[in-house]
Amino acid sequence: MQQEPSRITPVAADAPIATPTHGGRAKCLQRLVRLDLPVPRTVALSFDAVHDIAAGGAPDAEAILAGFPADALLCVRPSSQDPDWGGPGAVLNIGMNDARRAALAPLLGETAAARLYLRFVQAYALQVARLDPDLFERFEDDGPEALAEALAVYEEEAEEPFPQDRAVQLAAVLRAMARAWEGTSARLLRQARGAPADAGLGLVVQEMAFGLGRGECGSGVLQLVSSETGEPRITGRYLRQSQGREALSDTEAALYLARDPRGPSLEEAAPEAFAELVAHARHMREKLREEMQVEFTLEDGRVLILDGVRVARTPRAALRIAVALAEDGILPREEALMRVEPGALSELLHRQVAPGARRNRLASGVAASPGAASGRIVFSADAAQAAAARGEAAVLVRRETSPADIRGMHAAVAVLTERGGMTSHAAVIGRGLGLPCVVGASELGFHMQDRALVAPDGRTLREGDIITVDGTTGDVLAGAPAMVEAALDDAFRTFLSWADAVRDIGVRANADTPDDAQTARNFEAQGIGLCRTEHMFFEGDRMTPMREMIFADTPEDRRAALERLLPMQRRDFVELFRIMQGKPVCIRLFDPPLHEFLPRDRAGLRELAAALDLPLSDVTRRVEALGEYNPMLGMRGVRLGIAVPEIYDMQARAIFEATEEASREGAPVVPEIMIPLVSARREVELVKTRIDAVAAAVMTERTTRLDYRLGVMVETPRACLRAEDIAQHSAFLSFGTNDLTQMTYGLSRDDAGRFMSAYVTQGVFPEDPFHVLDVEGVGELLSIAAERGRAGRPDVVLSVCGEHGGDAESIAFCRRAGFDYVSCSPFRVPVARLAAAQLAI
Ligand code: PEP
Ligand code: MG
Repeated sequence: MQQEPSRITPVAADAPIATPTHGGRAKCLQRLVRLDLPVPRTVALSFDAVHDIAAGGAPDAEAILAGFPADALLCVRPSSQDPDWGGPGAVLNIGMNDARRAALAPLLGETAAARLYLRFVQAYALQVARLDPDLFERFEDDGPEALAEALAVYEEEAEEPFPQDRAVQLAAVLRAMARAWEGTSARLLRQARGAPADAGLGLVVQEMAFGLGRGECGSGVLQLVSSETGEPRITGRYLRQSQGREALSDTEAALYLARDPRGPSLEEAAPEAFAELVAHARHMREKLREEMQVEFTLEDGRVLILDGVRVARTPRAALRIAVALAEDGILPREEALMRVEPGALSELLHRQVAPGARRNRLASGVAASPGAASGRIVFSADAAQAAAARGEAAVLVRRETSPADIRGMHAAVAVLTERGGMTSHAAVIGRGLGLPCVVGASELGFHMQDRALVAPDGRTLREGDIITVDGTTGDVLAGAPAMVEAALDDAFRTFLSWADAVRDIGVRANADTPDDAQTARNFEAQGIGLCRTEHMFFEGDRMTPMREMIFADTPEDRRAALERLLPMQRRDFVELFRIMQGKPVCIRLFDPPLHEFLPRDRAGLRELAAALDLPLSDVTRRVEALGEYNPMLGMRGVRLGIAVPEIYDMQARAIFEATEEASREGAPVVPEIMIPLVSARREVELVKTRIDAVAAAVMTERTTRLDYRLGVMVETPRACLRAEDIAQHSAFLSFGTNDLTQMTYGLSRDDAGRFMSAYVTQGVFPEDPFHVLDVEGVGELLSIAAERGRAGRPDVVLSVCGEHGGDAESIAFCRRAGFDYVSCSPFRVPVARLAAAQLAI
């Protein structure tokens, strides 16, 4: 079958070449031609042409060869739509044969001519004739003797002499490359990288630049920035007497590009060629609007540009490159913002395992909080605190964590749990603290009694052994691999300030402690969207009055215990308000079931009995009485606020007194008070009445005026359906999508980790709904609630403060639904700011 001529196109400035029909490499080469760069003659084959060849059509080698001089050597390279989809390896020196070798020997030298031929015979034997690689990779030298041997082995194995006709060679190479692309393993590999099933391959046939011979000959790559950091620095390697990308594999013999204390450079060896290359690279950067790696060859000192590919880059380099391109006026800021993937930003906020480091993997779990840290294994919060006191890095290993582990989590450098998913306690607290965390790592045996972890391959790790938790990938590694530090530099701040200028939805942080609030400020959150006040009661010396309050027999005793907690809470809030400097702070009233504050084991009960001066039997009975069959649906949230109203009274007083104190010294504060787990309007009315009364009392006592806003956390399905009613008394509605997801699915957020991966891999759920908002189900409830809430109160402020607030897809939903802001863990604030900006562009 004959190819249509249009599918074989010389790469000229005006040729009809496009990425979707000819691939990215062909298109890029055309751009280089348009820039008048010294690109060797090139012909592009379209996806259709290559597909026909793979299906058995004869390649029209003659038509291709018509574009080149009769004695030109050629190379063929793949040109897929996206370079990440891979493709067959390039074949160089097509056209070498006995006659060309004889003709080239006097020009290039015997050895160079033999080497060109040998390279081709080797590539042809492996990629086209598919002969045994061992037979062709064993030659000691690469001169005439090796060539003779290779030709003899070829003839023996292929049962025919090495083909001498350039058209025959070219046709065979094209056929082999086309078929390699259609092979099953290549297809699976690229589909895993996001390619569609029918992704096409183009091929680029280019006249060879020798890189071997007399004078300054060689090949290499050059780029203007560091791939690691993105900083401007001319990097690359150049290898004399070489072709293709050999300079990258033989770094011993290769030269540096620019002057370098580590060894000789091209800049010193051939200053004019170096200067010309740098000028070409700058021209490419400006006109292609991208940092490019230039693949070049020197032929007796003459510069030839063979190709340009996007510089490979770490997330940190990607951000710096985007900022520099915009600052140099090459890209508009909006386009620079689109060049960085939001999720990649979170990698910049934490230490990470260095990209090239050896990873000695023990097991994997859910990547619940990004960043990596190495430390000695400890199996209890106390041991983590003891290690911290000794100045040792400790990784806290627990079956799961509870509020009682928080101090241990603060002391640890990372957390690893057997159970749990994205919204389990360890995951939420880990993200809040910026603490690397892997949860649900049930591949490992957690032998808590023996203080040992057993990997699936049988390796046993004991308390004190060093492991690394990689919360970015979910891996648990043995030992301590090399790390790269977080980078919150000027480029990062500049970049996010551009994001803030375009986004149209607010971003606040979930922050429970002054440390969290400071992190939120550092990441320029617009306020605190959720302060979970119960976390404050686990700090320092508060546990005892807290437990006394829980054990109080009468409202008077309870009030006395709360009196002791009041100044502590007030101090917390004053500090939060100070740090946030007048930015809004939304404080959620006490939410968890009370028994979370009580000990679970006998030793803890005995300690509590001693602290409270009560008989052990009394304490045990009371703790048992507080137990619930289903605490997440039991006496918690507003139900506790109504049944034991003194707790909310104390919290409201602490908030108002702190408001008055902070406003006296700094920017005026208008606190937002949020009621959790509401399901009926009457709950709001009851709480509102008491809070208004506390406000009035504080105003009278302190002869001042206080402004505040009361709102509802919408996290039960009924609250969504009754939002019109509930909004009557609510200045704002903030969706707690963690509980709302749990209740909408009837899916325990603390246990879902056990089967979530089975559910996602089998397509029951497209994603973990605790991670990415379930737009179809939970999202419909949010939409209904938003509409009804606005009907009840047109100026009601709407937001999300569940973990979804930091996820790009979920933010897109909130923006479409017209929400005012999202609130997420402080460390996710930068990600949310960029994601929100990209949605607005
Ligand atoms: C929620 O339920 O979405 C929420 C933010 O509150 P918590 O995670 O504390 O239950
Ligand atoms: Mg909740």
